[in-house]
Amino acid sequence: MKHEISIEFFPPQTPEGMEKLRATWARLAELKPTFFSVTYGAGGSTRERTFSVVKEIVAGGFAAAPHLSCIGSTRDSIREILNEYKAAGIRRTVALRGDLPSGMAEAGEFRHANELVEFIRSETGDWFSIEVAAYPEWHPQARSPQDDLAAFARKVRAGANSAITQYFYNADAYFNFVDEATALGVNVPIVPGIMPIAGFTKLARFSDACGAEMPRWMRKKFESYGDDVDSIRAFGLDIVTELCERLLKGGAPGLHFYSMNQARLTTEICRRLG
Ligand code: FAD
Repeated sequence: MKHEISIEFFPPQTPEGMEKLRATWARLAELKPTFFSVTYGAGGSTRERTFSVVKEIVAGGFAAAPHLSCIGSTRDSIREILNEYKAAGIRRTVALRGDLPSGMAEAGEFRHANELVEFIRSETGDWFSIEVAAYPEWHPQARSPQDDLAAFARKVRAGANSAITQYFYNADAYFNFVDEATALGVNVPIVPGIMPIAGFTKLARFSDACGAEMPRWMRKKFESYGDDVDSIRAFGLDIVTELCERLLKGGAPGLHFYSMNQARLTTEICRRLG
């Protein structure tokens, strides 16, 4: 059975980075993703770059979804961006709260992603297919799992068409989240976000910050490889491929890859998945 995949990029800061990204999406296009998504720096820091990457992907004949975060933004500025996206024929967006960059004090006119989803719907009707974020291991600022789940359901009720999860390495957390969301009446697809493993130390630090658990048995094994990058990648590929297999077998509607602007690991995982 064929499953849909989507693939995420971040907007590069340099012309060389952009050149590399073009080569990356040309390779990843062979996987026939439903769309490529491009992240957006909270507070609008990557507004121009996100838009220009998305426009180039669309000009190449692929579907692209710019992410849009609302923290630190005004209604007027979000309206302007939505109008730009609409005029460029973009039909999908990933709607987020985002995190205020340190040093930026102004929270702006939106507090949470559900307010952004409502705003997009009130401004643009059904033009956009809206994705929202989900956290199977709970958002790091959530007061409780119940609160986070309720916030997720609120965001979906505000008009989201589908959700993409934070990455995780524990399939049970995902299945449990889907069951609980379904029990609350959420019936949109919840697509697992998959983070291929290119290295261990940075990923472990990042996982701690964003609330994604790296199980002890995995950490210990990675640590035992030291600087042996080949062993780390080989083990990472095995783990992530097995995770994807389990998720798809258990009913996940598709996979969203956090590519980190690299083609190799995502391509290899998809090749192994057939
Ligand atoms: P929300 O859904 O608003 O939730 C944030 C917190 O507030 C949660 O703890 C939630 O429980 C709580 N909450 C939500 N609604 C309410 C409410 N109404 N009342 C009280 N509490 C509430 N960040 C970027 O800056 N740029 C990106 O491009 C980007 N892309 C991402 C893509 C995916 C698929 C994911 C999973 C995350 C992405 N992020 C991105 C990170 C995201 O911005 C952060 O995780 C951020 O902290 C939360 O955003 P959110 O949209 O999930 O927020």
